[in-house]
Amino acid sequence: MSESQFESSAAVTRFAPSPNGMLHLGHAYSAVVAHDLARERGGRFLLRIEDIDGARSRPELAAEFHRDLEWLGLEWDEVSAQSSRLASYEEAATRLVQEGLVYPCTCTRKQIEAAKPRLGPDGLIYPGTCKGRLLDPARPAALRLDIEKALMQVGELSWFDELAGEQSADPLQFGDVVLVRKDEPASYHLAATLDDAADGVTLVTRGADLFAATHIHRLLQALLGLPVPRWHHHALLLDETGKKLAKRRESPSLAEMREAGEDGLALADRLRAGNLPAGISLGSP
Ligand code: GLU
Ligand code: ZN
Repeated sequence: MSESQFESSAAVTRFAPSPNGMLHLGHAYSAVVAHDLARERGGRFLLRIEDIDGARSRPELAAEFHRDLEWLGLEWDEVSAQSSRLASYEEAATRLVQEGLVYPCTCTRKQIEAAKPRLGPDGLIYPGTCKGRLLDPARPAALRLDIEKALMQVGELSWFDELAGEQSADPLQFGDVVLVRKDEPASYHLAATLDDAADGVTLVTRGADLFAATHIHRLLQALLGLPVPRWHHHALLLDETGKKLAKRRESPSLAEMREAGEDGLALADRLRAGNLPAGISLGSP
């Protein structure tokens, strides 16, 4: 069964940076890809500030991101921020609670590590310690998805990546992921899935490092009755050591390049042409 409800025409794409650090060349590449896909297909390009992580978010960075995209010559059609959507995350979480698909978990990272769990695509696989446990309701708890129960409810699912083709959804490899954090009304998985639906995104464009996360997102779409987009997980820019670019690995930020008087339009064109700066290469998608 092909799950996607959208044709590849008139794509609505998005660039969804988290304001916990400056954007670097890898982000520029991601933004160019998302922008160009929308423009080539007569669609819309959205900017979403993923500021759900209150402790790590620096609100002033959103304005820097706007300047970075303008410098690269990328115009966006709409901008949204996760911090303005907390009610929709709560509503979805409540629904999953009512359906018995999530359970509270009070485990600390230390307790989870002590159980010597297996490693999944996104860190340690939760060993299920709190599943079926009666917990003190006064204690702060995260909400975890009961993945086995969820899968029984929805059955087999698939999703389509424009570069990698049809995928059969395999969310079980993540174990019972957190959907609502102890300190935040949603995890990345829940917030991003709801936002893409609310924004009418038809082509989720992001780096290949988030490819596996899509298995979870596809499951959440089925559980919450959300429309199913297509995905385009693009290759990542790599540094000399073959690791994905990150600010901490000494790649300059776009703001630094901008302030040094570099030509942003020319940089965006170089990224389009695959004419990358010295020491940087494009990985495989
Ligand atoms: N906010 C995420 C990041 O900056 C991107 C999430 C997504 O594109 O789904 O890495
Ligand atoms: Zn627990």
